[in-house]
Amino acid sequence: MTYTMGVDIGSITSKCVILRDGKVVTATAIIRAGTGSDGPQRAVAEALRLAALSRSEIAYAVATGYGRVTYDDADEELSEIACHGRGAVFQEPLARTVIDIGGQDAKAIKLGAGGRVLNFAMNEKCAAGTGRFLEVMAQALGYPLSELGALGEKSTEKVSISSTCTVFAESEVISHLAANRKVEDVVAGIHESIARRIAGLVRRIGLEQKVLMTGGVAQNSGVVKALEERLECPLVVPVYTQANGALGAAVFAFAKYQKNKEEHVE
Ligand code: ADP
Repeated sequence: MTYTMGVDIGSITSKCVILRDGKVVTATAIIRAGTGSDGPQRAVAEALRLAALSRSEIAYAVATGYGRVTYDDADEELSEIACHGRGAVFQEPLARTVIDIGGQDAKAIKLGAGGRVLNFAMNEKCAAGTGRFLEVMAQALGYPLSELGALGEKSTEKVSISSTCTVFAESEVISHLAANRKVEDVVAGIHESIARRIAGLVRRIGLEQKVLMTGGVAQNSGVVKALEERLECPLVVPVYTQANGALGAAVFAFAKYQKNKEEHVE
């Protein structure tokens, strides 16, 4: 048995996936502490514990994500775009578009067969359309982030949030609440605002089905539904949403391990 590992170090969270023989997910760990913290080490320790393995039993490890350059316990670093693409086709072989909304960025990736990256578009300059936007809004509304999806689904008359800037959008949310708009209608407006931004990103690369939605924000059913309406197509939310990049890194790690082994034999 060969175990490989992927470590995805994001702005908000650190993720680790351990894969057996390039095929079976043995353990996943997600720690809410990202780059610049001990999150990556904790995620690795937790995944090893769940898999009942020691670090020396990992044949090859690949680090990815925003904070990958600060992590020195991997055999190799790879771009998060490549890893997200690889994770997506591992989970859904027919995936041709990946929409990943993380804590501080959002990306749309166009894939060819086998998960080859053909094109991508990214928003990393602005909090609008990212998990951060949702976090600011949840705080302004006084609701836990994890409840926004279900709350927005109760909406009967969605409010319109016109500001693209997070700070101005937050003021808009507060003024809607002050005007006695129902909280569920405001939440639905927040989800719609994210969907509008992300649909713009997807248009830049061209939409091709099947479309996978990954990243922490994929756990919000309201954002997923709003995006499905905007894009006029179904979105597949895979089992490993937040850990998709780490999974792709572990898949790459297995391929690298095998390649190295073959070269060694020759
Ligand atoms: P990164 O890789 O950039 O650190 P992640 O893909 O881990 O980011 O996503 C983090 C974001 O996911 C958070 O900012 C938060 O908005 C969102 N998130 C996490 N858990 C949930 C949840 N249960 N429901 C909705 N959103 C969530």
